Amino acid sequence: MPVAKGYAAAAAKASLAPFTFQRREPNDDDVVIAIRYCGICHSDIHMVDNGWGNSVFPLVPGHEIAGVVTAVGSKVTKFKPGDHVGVGCFVDSCTTCAQRDVDHEQYLPGLVLTYSSFEPGSTTPTYGGYSDSIVVKEGYVLSIPDNLPLDAAAPLLCAGITLYSPLRHWQAGPGKKVAIVGMGGLGHMGVKLAHAMGAEVTVLSQSLAKREDGLKLGASHYYATSDAATFTTLAGQFDLIVCTVSSTIDWNAYLSLLKVDGTFVVVGAPEQPVPVHAFALIPHRRTLAGSMIGSIKETQEMLDFCGEKNIVADIETIAMADVNEAYQRIAASDVRYRFVIDMATLG
Ligand code: NAP
Ligand code: ZN
Repeated sequence: MPVAKGYAAAAAKASLAPFTFQRREPNDDDVVIAIRYCGICHSDIHMVDNGWGNSVFPLVPGHEIAGVVTAVGSKVTKFKPGDHVGVGCFVDSCTTCAQRDVDHEQYLPGLVLTYSSFEPGSTTPTYGGYSDSIVVKEGYVLSIPDNLPLDAAAPLLCAGITLYSPLRHWQAGPGKKVAIVGMGGLGHMGVKLAHAMGAEVTVLSQSLAKREDGLKLGASHYYATSDAATFTTLAGQFDLIVCTVSSTIDWNAYLSLLKVDGTFVVVGAPEQPVPVHAFALIPHRRTLAGSMIGSIKETQEMLDFCGEKNIVADIETIAMADVNEAYQRIAASDVRYRFVIDMATLG
């Protein structure tokens, strides 16, 4: 069995430390990937903390994987050694239920997450991208356009698709006013993507500290949510609000910023429940919705869109050994705008 090196958390809230483990022997339909870069998603931190209560340890995080194909099984037709590829948040999904042909496999039972699930039919945990290699079924491998640098493309595999999917679903585009709440890893991708789709973009951030960056990325307006006046100035303004905040905030206040028939989409996943008042929704026929990553088909569509528009993440590349410090900085909202681990530093 191929031996892989990586970093793992041994138990909930443990620091990440070097970890050697085995990848599965490649099957006929598998692609073997040398991981070059892996983005750090805030979900990695929730999962290491077992904040959502479903983590499997030891836990090798990482679902923003960008690398190069090193070998393919005999039945693989879409990839060959040398190809630039990505792996996102899941590596297998339901193959039996009636909806299996619908392009929303991320919402079906039987989803196998890239880490913290179990290998199908086994008690071995799936291990993620903070490692030097991975073996993935062809159908779950994405093609990264050649014009995109692998390091800055890695965050597209989660942050990119998590914003692209709701922006497309709720038809962000010309004539639509879209607000992005939180200018972190997901949020900064939301600004770039919504702008590229032609929407008028507003950032709602805790302060104005990142205003200049937000405007450069494509926002037309930038407001501080710490200023109560923001909520009166912008009342009833938006067709769509996508909230990327990882902590509990008062969704009722943000719902008041929607127009009649506007939609507030939750993508940030706080660990505690958030109370919602009925009258934040009723008087303007507002919708409170959620969205989770995107299907494989939609993820490829997003990567091709980013290839055409030359969109990648703004990144800070770090060495593997600095991952614990990076987690602390993310928790303090001190990231501009995605940390990406350079796997050459794994040693
Ligand atoms: P991130 O880089 O830490 O960004 C979150 C941003 O939220 C921060 O930069 C900050 O923006 C804002 N924020 C943080 N704490 C806040 C607070 N107490 N009050 C108000 N604003 C606050 O995290 P990320 O990687 O973008 O992930 C964000 C969330 O999305 C996480 O919960 C993650 O698990 C979740 N997620 C969901 C999906 C999905 O499929 N739905 C996929 C990936 C990640 P400002 O400094 O601009 O205020
Ligand atoms: Zn993620």
